[in-house]
Amino acid sequence: MMSAHKRLLLGCGTRLMVQNGTFSTSAKAQKSYKLVVVGGGAGGCATAAKFSSKLGRGKVAVIEPADMHYYQPMWTLVGGGMKTLEDSGRPMSQVLPSKADWIKQRAVTFDPHNNKVITEEGEEVNYEYLVVATGLQLNYHQIKGLPDAFETPGVCSNYSPLYVNKTLKSLENFREGNAIFTLPTMPIKCPGAPQKIMYIADEYFRKHGKRDKANIMYFTTLPVLFGIKKYADALWKVVKERGIVDINLRHNLIEVKPDTREAVFQDLDNPTTSKLLSAPDPLRECAALVNEGGFLNVNKHTLQHVTFPNVFGIGDCVSVPTAKTAAAVAGQFGVMRKNLSLVMAGSSPKHEYDGYTSCPLVTGYSKCILAEFDMDGQPLETFPLNQAKERRTMFHLKKDMMPAMYWMGMLKGIWNGPKYMRKIMHLGMK
Ligand SMILES: Cc1cc2nc3c(=O)[nH]c(=O)nc-3n(C[C@H](O)[C@H](O)[C@H](O)COP(=O)(O)OP(=O)(O)OC[C@H]3O[C@@H](n4cnc5c(N)ncnc54)[C@H](O)[C@@H]3O)c2cc1C
Repeated sequence: MMSAHKRLLLGCGTRLMVQNGTFSTSAKAQKSYKLVVVGGGAGGCATAAKFSSKLGRGKVAVIEPADMHYYQPMWTLVGGGMKTLEDSGRPMSQVLPSKADWIKQRAVTFDPHNNKVITEEGEEVNYEYLVVATGLQLNYHQIKGLPDAFETPGVCSNYSPLYVNKTLKSLENFREGNAIFTLPTMPIKCPGAPQKIMYIADEYFRKHGKRDKANIMYFTTLPVLFGIKKYADALWKVVKERGIVDINLRHNLIEVKPDTREAVFQDLDNPTTSKLLSAPDPLRECAALVNEGGFLNVNKHTLQHVTFPNVFGIGDCVSVPTAKTAAAVAGQFGVMRKNLSLVMAGSSPKHEYDGYTSCPLVTGYSKCILAEFDMDGQPLETFPLNQAKERRTMFHLKKDMMPAMYWMGMLKGIWNGPKYMRKIMHLGMK
């Protein structure tokens, strides 16, 4: 019999089959690459573009099962009817770089001890270097009744392409009563998103003459309205001005009852362990790669894995303690790509990520507070003006300019965040 000890040495969840009393892996084919990128989202696509151009054809593979690539930050605007779901997506085949091989499968097993990733079809993909960019998975099933409730009118989520179109429909069909917006337990991507759609809904109801019939309620698991005080203060003013008085801090949605149209919340002073968003299961199940929270365990500055020097991470799936946004991915990319190149050349990483992240807090159909901050919660603003103020210019930056920067800059591996722009704007002082 195989001992428990041996089982561990085989790596993270390697699939085993017993054949005539001997053990063999269920893997079928073998492929080898200089660099394997797992995930073809914001971070994975940028990484693959940069390194396939640098290393040449056939040297880089991207493991990614999805047919479509979505610019998720646009889903807030889709929910409010300012953009369509189609505007936010492009076929994956169009955004992945042509010089990289696309392995259109899900990675199911990470085996960092043997430098390989195994796909759902049992292919073994060997690497010299690995970049993990799997983003987060949505765990809607952790809220009792929610998956069924999504099939009923009036229950929607801007976090999934399956349900984001229901948001506008819910606003249109709203007649009167409670309009409930929720922010689940951290970490989530773009922690500002749950309240952005609340402000949009407020304006939508006003425009359509039903605001006085709506009791807008916000339930957040956080003890504050927003994690950075400067922007939280500004947002408290916004909710006050809009007459949004039902703000419930430290409350977590635990059940939805579609039959009676009820939402059940838990007071978080009695703690919960459920996480609505988490790193994808194949990554979480690889104990050698993740921290206790289930995120890829990287050095928060260099983005190199703490145990495996040939493994780097980028984006929502990493353990870096900053708000998980595409803006953070851009900042991380500028550092990660340089450090990975150094390691490939036999040196050590020397570039450091400062935790830059940004949350354009859309507060209606024409206004936005552009929150930008670092991992210590300090504002790190690009423009030499008070970004905590609601502005139309910032709204257009978010709605009209950022998508173009994403498709044409970020996914091509040429957008590293606004660090240099910030320096110029602040005459080198920041
Ligand atoms: C409603 C909403 C609003 C947002 N607003 C903003 C905003 O205003 N500003 C901002 O900067 N950010 C915003 N974000 C956050 C931003 O979209 C994410 O932070 C960003 O997309 C993260 O990039 P990523 O590469 O880490 O993950 P993703 O872009 O999510 O990509 C992950 C990829 O990995 C793939 N994958 C997953 N598991 C596996 C596996 N096992 N094998 C292979 N591939 C796998 C997935 O299919 C996916 O393509 C928002 C997000 C949402 C949902």
